[in-house]
Amino acid sequence: MVEERTPAVVLRARAYGESDKIVTLLTRDWGKVTGIAKGAKRSQRRFVNVLDSFTHVQLYFRPGRGNDLAFIFRCDLIRNFRAPSLDLERYAFASYVTELIDVMIVDREAGAEAYTLLLAGLTALEEEQVLSTLFLPAFTLLLLSCTGYEPNVTECQHCGVSIGEHAGPSVFSPSRGGLLCPRCHDHGGMTIHLSDDTINVLATAKTTPPEDFLRITTSPRTTRETRAVVTSLLSRNLTRPLKSQAFLEQMGALHDSHVDGPQGE
Ligand SMILES: [Zn+2]
Repeated sequence: MVEERTPAVVLRARAYGESDKIVTLLTRDWGKVTGIAKGAKRSQRRFVNVLDSFTHVQLYFRPGRGNDLAFIFRCDLIRNFRAPSLDLERYAFASYVTELIDVMIVDREAGAEAYTLLLAGLTALEEEQVLSTLFLPAFTLLLLSCTGYEPNVTECQHCGVSIGEHAGPSVFSPSRGGLLCPRCHDHGGMTIHLSDDTINVLATAKTTPPEDFLRITTSPRTTRETRAVVTSLLSRNLTRPLKSQAFLEQMGALHDSHVDGPQGE
C-alpha cells in the first residue's frame, strides 16, 4: 500500500458505524482530503486526540481514487489549538474559518496557500491577546484571493482605466467584483463607497504575509467597508450558507457586516 504523508489541519470529523470516523482535513500538499479512519473511536495509538476540529497533525494516508474516500492510516499530533475550547468567541471564529475553508475549497484544487492561511488564522486565535477587529474580514479576503475571487482594486471594472490615475472617489461593485472609477459609478449596479485607506488595505492583502495581515489594525470605517466588500463577494460565491455565520451573528460579532444600499444614483 502506497502511504503518503503531509501536514494537515482537521476541519471536521464524524462517527461512521460503530468504530470508524470520516475525517475531512486541509492538507499542505494534497488540498482537501476526506478519508476514513478505521477504528478511530477505539484506537488510542493511531488516533489519540488528533481527530478533533482545529487540530494540526501529520497525516499518513492513501489517497482515494476519483471521489472515493482516502484511507487514513494514522495521524500524529503537531499542535493542539486550545483557544477555541476555552473561549466562546474564539470557538465561533475558529468554526467560521474552518467552515469557510471547507466550503470554498474543493478537493485538490487548493494549493499550500490556503493551508498556510488556515494555520495563520488558528495561530492568531491561539496567541493574540486582543484580536484585530479586521480578523474575520481579513481572513475571508485572503481566502477569496486564494480561490481566485479577490476584488480587483487596480483598474476600473468598466473602462479599464488604472484606479489612482483618476482624481475622485472610486466605488466597489460586488457584481463586477472590483472598483469603478468616478466616471463609471453608474455601471456597477449596487455599489459601496470606499475610502482610500480601505482601497489600500484591499490592495495590500496580496503582498502582506497572512500572519501579518490578520493582525493589522484599521479605523472603524475601514473595518466596516472591508467587511462590506468581503461579505458581498462571499454571498456571490458561497454554494451554501455557513452554519457558523449564523452562530456569529447571534453573538453580534458581525453586527455591521451588511452591504450598503444603492448609492450614487
Ligand atoms: Zn471607469
